[in-house]
Amino acid sequence: MQGLMMQQPLLVASLLMHAERHHGTQEIVSRRVEGDIHRYSYRDLAQRARRMANALAGLGIQAGERVGTLAWNGYRHMELYFAASGSGSVLHTLNPRLHVDQLAYIIEHAQDRVVFFDLTFLPLIESVAPRVKSPKVFVAMTDRAHMPQAHGLSSMLMCYEDLIDLHSDAYEWPLLDENSASSLCYTSGTTGNPKGVLYSHRSTLLHTYAAALPDSLNCSARDAILPVVPMFHVNAWGLPYIACMVGAKLVFPGPALDGKSLYELIEAEQVTLSAGVPTVWQGLLAHADAIEGSFSTMRRTIIGGAPCPTAMTAAFQNRHRVDVLHAWGMTELSPVGTVCSFKTHQLSLPVDERYAVQAKQGRSVFGIDMKIVGPDGAELPWDGNAAGDLLVRGPWVTRQYFGNDDASPLRDGWFPTGDVAKIDRDGFMQITDRSKDVIKSGGEWISSADIENVAYLHADVASAVCIAARHPKWDERPLLLIVKKPDSALTEDELLAFFDGRVAKWWKPDAVVFVESVPLGATGKVLKHQLREQYADHYLSA
Ligand code: AMP
Repeated sequence: MQGLMMQQPLLVASLLMHAERHHGTQEIVSRRVEGDIHRYSYRDLAQRARRMANALAGLGIQAGERVGTLAWNGYRHMELYFAASGSGSVLHTLNPRLHVDQLAYIIEHAQDRVVFFDLTFLPLIESVAPRVKSPKVFVAMTDRAHMPQAHGLSSMLMCYEDLIDLHSDAYEWPLLDENSASSLCYTSGTTGNPKGVLYSHRSTLLHTYAAALPDSLNCSARDAILPVVPMFHVNAWGLPYIACMVGAKLVFPGPALDGKSLYELIEAEQVTLSAGVPTVWQGLLAHADAIEGSFSTMRRTIIGGAPCPTAMTAAFQNRHRVDVLHAWGMTELSPVGTVCSFKTHQLSLPVDERYAVQAKQGRSVFGIDMKIVGPDGAELPWDGNAAGDLLVRGPWVTRQYFGNDDASPLRDGWFPTGDVAKIDRDGFMQITDRSKDVIKSGGEWISSADIENVAYLHADVASAVCIAARHPKWDERPLLLIVKKPDSALTEDELLAFFDGRVAKWWKPDAVVFVESVPLGATGKVLKHQLREQYADHYLSA
């Protein structure tokens, strides 16, 4: 027998309609690239998003077509989130930290029809434009007064505020199929080119419900939320959508991510909840310590993207009375998978044991099913000791990468995360290792395979192995191990200089270690695991 409830599709635009109707006067505050602070309300956001939806239609963007953005966290980016997805096209957030070749590849692969960009990224767009065929239009996210005078984009450049001014806010959000695509985010893989994760309206809405819950990211109408995690990295962990759903004040940091700027914004805007990777919080804590400052309103911070060190948890909780919520997720998971929020019996544990719990990545939010398996694929017990490959499944987990219809990443219906983890009896997952060969530096990926490929271009390199080594500031940095060709006089500086222009600046390894040989397994594969263990602390002991 069928249930007799309404069939209302779960759509991204409904979040905005809800925010406008129920939280219309709630504020959205943004630090702009122009340098000033901008503030307006959800009502203004909704009205301008409708104008922008009309503008996208005016540009000829059809349902399902991709709208690229290369932008910081800010209100115009938020408008595009809803204008693009809400009107049936696909918001495609581009990561400005990528090398220009990768950006060009991604824009071409996604077939972006238009790319909106913050002024900071004009030089990047000028380099990308000649390398891509797809977008015929680039839109600078600024007003007429700040439009660049000299630029290399010829007639293809438009002004964001002109588009807003030219179009009416009379727009009816279309009733879309909830399974249609809403946004797209590429993630750098271990080998080959970055892969696109294509979210649907339904997956986004279900993720939003689950991620807002008290034991997840714990967001409410009484919060002022500062997403430091970029809107170009998995939709800022879903916070723009969550804020609309719950009616929270939103505070966007724009390009100013240093400790001083963040601290001043947190205090001025009475932020209650913030979210970001450990590297960003190091800068904030260092600034707060330097000025002996305290947080007058911030009571919670979500830390994820990389493991949150206990020293950081202790600094926030002991010195600043800010509770840390350690979370784990992935681009492929929209991203929230687990959050480390206490169960009742853990609250009375001695403080050291509570920190040990908080070092874990946490327990599943409802909707994410997880398991750990051994090398034979057999499920391992949740005893807090056995460690194995972490697999997940759920309605906001990807089943296929965009434009890659042949190969499914799934294993028997489960998504292999590339993380190795153990799970305790309470269901708290802790990452112990990573089976995927990548380096996560300051919350963003570096491909070790790409670094090795560049090294091999050098005539003096016989073998090149790039591994992740722990780093006090960036969590991990690439370390390059090189076997030179016989009689080569290659130096570290020469080899590092060879990377200039060939990879993004921050991808360049911090050091090269010349070795006699690298350990090989039975099949001739480099035993990276062994090297990772041997050199893990190279930058800590340097
Ligand atoms: P991304 O898709 O760029 O968000 O990266 C997801 C990956 O980052 C995960 O598969 C983990 O390897 C890593 N990661 C994310 N959050 C954490 C965390 N809290 N602790 C350790 N690693 C994490």
